[in-house]
Amino acid sequence: MNAAPIKVLLIEDNPGDAHLVERYLSGESQTEIQLEHANRVGLGLDTLARKPVDLVLLDLNLPDSRGLETFEKVHSSFPRVPKIVMTGQDDRSQAVEAVRQGAQDYLVKGKVDTELLVRSIRYALERSRFDERLRQSQRRFELAVRGAKDGIWDWDLEKDEIYLSPRWKEILGYADDEVGNHPDDWLNKVHPADFDGFKQKLAAHLEGESEHFECEHRILGRDGDFRWVLVRGVSYSGEHGERIAGSLTDIHSRKTHEQQLQHDAMHDLLTKLPNAALLLDRLSVALAQVRRREDYKFAVLFFDLDRFKSVNDSLGHAMGDRLLVTVARRLRALLRPGDTVARLGGDEFAILANGIQDPSDATRIADRIHDELRRPIQLNGREVTTSASVGITLSSDGYRRPKDMLRDADTAMYRAKSLGRSRYALFDEEMHHHAEELLRLESDLREAVRADQFEIHYQPVVTVRTGEVEGLEALLRWRHPQRGLLMPENFLDVAEESGEIVQIGWRVLREACRQMASWHQQLPFTELLAISVNISDRQLISIDFVDRVESALEKTGIHPNKLRLEIHERLLFEDPDVTLGKLAQLSEVGVQLHFDDFGTSVSSLKRLLRLPSSTIKVDRHYIAALTNSDEDLEIVRTLVGVAQNLGMQVIAEGVETKEQLEAVRDLGCECAQGFYFSRPLPAAEARELLLRRPRW
Ligand code: C2E
Ligand code: MG
Ligand code: MG
Repeated sequence: MNAAPIKVLLIEDNPGDAHLVERYLSGESQTEIQLEHANRVGLGLDTLARKPVDLVLLDLNLPDSRGLETFEKVHSSFPRVPKIVMTGQDDRSQAVEAVRQGAQDYLVKGKVDTELLVRSIRYALERSRFDERLRQSQRRFELAVRGAKDGIWDWDLEKDEIYLSPRWKEILGYADDEVGNHPDDWLNKVHPADFDGFKQKLAAHLEGESEHFECEHRILGRDGDFRWVLVRGVSYSGEHGERIAGSLTDIHSRKTHEQQLQHDAMHDLLTKLPNAALLLDRLSVALAQVRRREDYKFAVLFFDLDRFKSVNDSLGHAMGDRLLVTVARRLRALLRPGDTVARLGGDEFAILANGIQDPSDATRIADRIHDELRRPIQLNGREVTTSASVGITLSSDGYRRPKDMLRDADTAMYRAKSLGRSRYALFDEEMHHHAEELLRLESDLREAVRADQFEIHYQPVVTVRTGEVEGLEALLRWRHPQRGLLMPENFLDVAEESGEIVQIGWRVLREACRQMASWHQQLPFTELLAISVNISDRQLISIDFVDRVESALEKTGIHPNKLRLEIHERLLFEDPDVTLGKLAQLSEVGVQLHFDDFGTSVSSLKRLLRLPSSTIKVDRHYIAALTNSDEDLEIVRTLVGVAQNLGMQVIAEGVETKEQLEAVRDLGCECAQGFYFSRPLPAAEARELLLRRPRW
């Protein structure tokens, strides 16, 4: 071991004793000890002042000072220098006192040998180094605490006493003498909601389960409000048993800010109602409760406001907002404590109603909602009433996931809407099956597009005067691997909704044009026949609509005036300018436009004037009614009259009988289509039909 020499100052007036010490220490070989000697306290203090030593060996009885006083003199001037006191047999009690006052150790003269002396010096140095480190860390801790403006607490668990620093009290607004030193003076102020957590964490730490005790909690301040604080502590062994001590940090502003953020994230800013996230959260809590308690039931009511859009459009968004706020206020007033009304977005709301015993409890709430919304609302001097269609789901239907419950309530709402305004509908099995079927259909449809399970059937269009085929309409069919051949009515809505129809539609256009072009080539007598292709709204509004059609013409080589696009009349009224522009472009290159299912939507005949169209197709429901309803006969007569005055052709759809054909001929329709002539046929059969060159 090659440690630095230890410098020891011996203060001893008895030359014999001094000599003995010198001898003991020189016998020590492992560590070099440099000994200096002073025979008076005064001299000793001088030496200490001149140069530092590592340790003092101090005889208490000297000519210039006696007993404890000797120690005090040295200790008060040089408190950090470790001291070992040497006494005679008789005044051991003084030595003990000196140790209490800060001496590291004492030795009894005559009972010392080399080993004991050296060990005592070593221990004294160790201890003093340790004390110094402790002092330092204490100082650092105090500085840190002061810097952090934390309060300090120190709890004697044995005596059940607690020290709370003035700063601790100040954080909470108390004066120093306003809080006692019993732990309850603290614990009684902890917010009841935080108390159990506080106790648990404290116990866990005291039982050694956590390294630190740490707990955020609210505590009663002097002003009667609760403040958020962070408490940290660590247990240690005190003189009389276990203690725990630590700090108290004021985290009130951070915490309230956090809570504000959390609140904002969970609420709708406009109406201040809980939002969808919070509702889903509460739903999952409620569902968990259903699993625990058999008798607990609740319901979800889902609704949107009928006519909200028209208020927004006619009175402006600010008024729309005010309507929503008013509705929110009324809904909130309607509910019992514990229920939740949430705004899910737009004009959609949902209610979680607790303690529903049977469906009639839920429908009663729906009735109350209807009553509330029926009451007029003043908006800018205008009186507005609104109404809602309410869909209801019940927890008793065995839901597991909150989302499913909302989704089904949404489905039920659509059912309610279809019944008319201010209705409600309870979700039931049938809706469930229907919803499931739709989902399955959607995924089947994606697969169908991928695997190209579609085919086209062709139905002849006949010139009424001659009874000859003048064109074919391409009609979409889906060859479903399990369900067989499906008609458009089985899947078109879903395809429209999911957007799949766009891709399917362009395929139909290409294939139908290709087929017709190939018949034109192979069967020369068909070269005047045109092909009609149905176009969906989605296709028509897509930006590349015109390009797509032109590219189909180009790729298949069919003459533009042998292509007829069948467009639903309702499209013309949604976005007339853009749509008309596109149609005019195609019309210019010769493509014909047919307006399908004419007469099914309430449209003004005047609009026909703006159409670059050649033809309208009168909906088959009028044709079906022609022969037994005078009213329908008159409607069709008028339609045909107007169309002809505008120079348009009329095609009658759905002619099934000879009588209908006669009626249609009498009315002056140029063309007709229907089962009377032929059902839609697969391409091969349609080819045979063409080859027969029928005349009806
Ligand atoms: P639509 O364009 O009005 O087609 C005429 C529908 O009436 C066809 O039904 C046809 O089979 C049916 N029909 C023809 N004659 C008679 C008859 O005498 N009596 C009766 N009861 N019905 C007759 P389909 O093929 O089921 O098509 C239904 C609708 O689906 C079509 O009505 C059309 O709007 C749409 N659709 C068909 N194919 C396509 C397509 O490729 N794309 C788009 N977007 N829609 C298509
Ligand atoms: Mg059609
Ligand atoms: Mg039609």
